[in-house]
Amino acid sequence: MAAVAAWLPFARAAAIGWVPVAQQPMPPPPVNREHNRTDDLMKINVSGRRFETWRNTLEKYPDTLLGSNEKEFFYDEDAKEYFFDRDPDIFRNVLNYYRTGKLHYPKHECITAYDEELAFFGIMPDIIGDCCYEDYRDRKRENNERLLDD
Ligand SMILES: [Zn+2]
Repeated sequence: MAAVAAWLPFARAAAIGWVPVAQQPMPPPPVNREHNRTDDLMKINVSGRRFETWRNTLEKYPDTLLGSNEKEFFYDEDAKEYFFDRDPDIFRNVLNYYRTGKLHYPKHECITAYDEELAFFGIMPDIIGDCCYEDYRDRKRENNERLLDD
């Protein structure tokens, strides 16, 4: 019941703007929606930058740190949030992977830093999307050649 109620405000918000009000098939917002929303909404603090997502979103990939119970080691009881002392810029890509099922490689990031963040969160780089895979592979090769030169 809570899970159903939780998405309704968002379904409503998405409908506003393209469905005329009179034709809206959406039900009214639940009375205690604040309560339902906090049930499933997770707060994730990455080096001071706050991210929020639904628990269900993370549980899509149970073999990863955020999708498994391992994340409970990072839960801060006082702040009621998960705290990670990691790079918040790269974390954006990690979190988007859970949302979209596609992992993107931010071309401006150092490939070693990116790989380290993926490893920390238990995500395999071989699932990088086709849109970014070539960039990732090229940078990886350049980096390996550079290391051999040294
Ligand atoms: Zn991409």
